[in-house]
Amino acid sequence: MSEKIVVIGEVKDGVLRNVSFEAIAAAKKVHADGEVVGVVCGNGELSSLGEEMIHYGADRVITVTHENLQNYTSEGYCQAVMAVVEEEAPQVIVMGHTSVGKDLTPKLASKLNTGLISDAVDIEIADDQVQFVRPIYSGKAFEKKVITDGLTFFTIRPNNIAALDKDTSRSGDVTDKAVEIADIRTVIKDVIRKASEGVDLSEANVIVAGGRGVKSEEGFKPLYELAEVLGGAVGASRGACDAEYCDYSLQIGQTGKVVTPDLYIAVGISGAIQHLAGMSNSKVIVAINKDPEATIFNIADYGIVGDLFDIIPLLIEEVKKA
Ligand code: FAD
Repeated sequence: MSEKIVVIGEVKDGVLRNVSFEAIAAAKKVHADGEVVGVVCGNGELSSLGEEMIHYGADRVITVTHENLQNYTSEGYCQAVMAVVEEEAPQVIVMGHTSVGKDLTPKLASKLNTGLISDAVDIEIADDQVQFVRPIYSGKAFEKKVITDGLTFFTIRPNNIAALDKDTSRSGDVTDKAVEIADIRTVIKDVIRKASEGVDLSEANVIVAGGRGVKSEEGFKPLYELAEVLGGAVGASRGACDAEYCDYSLQIGQTGKVVTPDLYIAVGISGAIQHLAGMSNSKVIVAINKDPEATIFNIADYGIVGDLFDIIPLLIEEVKKA
């Protein structure tokens, strides 16, 4: 009998987050021949999201629709996913290591009386074992973990395990499961979002991050322009957030977001260890700093020594030409 794998999809603003598709690819790395069962929770029409999971490699999808799942609450989603897991009895469960994933998966693990490997950035097969690679000590080292017994339950960091290519010719069942979602003590009355434009920082492939060297809110404008021409998002150091040049939602680092884009451009950021904790696993790091001794250059793949206010407009011009 092939292994059964439950992939918990995550919906944001009516669309599945990319990490849901990456989780399907991760599931296939664990058991290439396993049956992948996607789960999508929410309120309203979810079947098109189910179809999308199938296009990205799920074999079938179970949707759980309920008015109490309109917004994420750990109580509601826990009940919904538990109902699916109890029925499916999978050998593997996987979800994205997002804010929702970080909240939901420990609760599920506790209910299932099982362990959880969180924040895996890679999955390797060695000595007939599935090894989960995860960063430790703020990204300065990696450990490999193996599950020796029971359920394999893990989360993956967004942007590390590539999703499979979308194949719209794939088909599979999308079925709705009726679940009684009751006794919700948390009632979300309203969701007020900060106005944010463009690409989601934690899933961006390109990030242009500004530090205290950017000097003002006004100074961030060219960074937004560069991010836009590169199809990326703007991030920041805590130095820049503390100085009120930008919002704390942009903070990257130990006490901010952890990101792993393909390209990270650090602009006027010194490279404090707490900042590196959030971005040092980026695939290509470019640092722009007027101080040739700045620590950020130690981890940068490409360094530009100079004044950011001269360099950023030149970069924008060159990217526009390309
Ligand atoms: P600075 O260290 O002041 O660096 C500014 C840089 O800009 C300098 O290198 C300078 O040479 C350069 N510069 C100035 N002008 C120009 C110019 N015109 N052109 C080019 N370069 C220029 N920090 C984080 O970022 N994220 C975190 O999550 C985080 N968590 C923390 C948690 C704790 C418990 C503590 C104690 C600290 C934390 N910090 C965090 C703060 C961290 O220690 C640093 O203070 C912060 O990262 C510094 O920000 P910065 O690099 O923007 O500023």
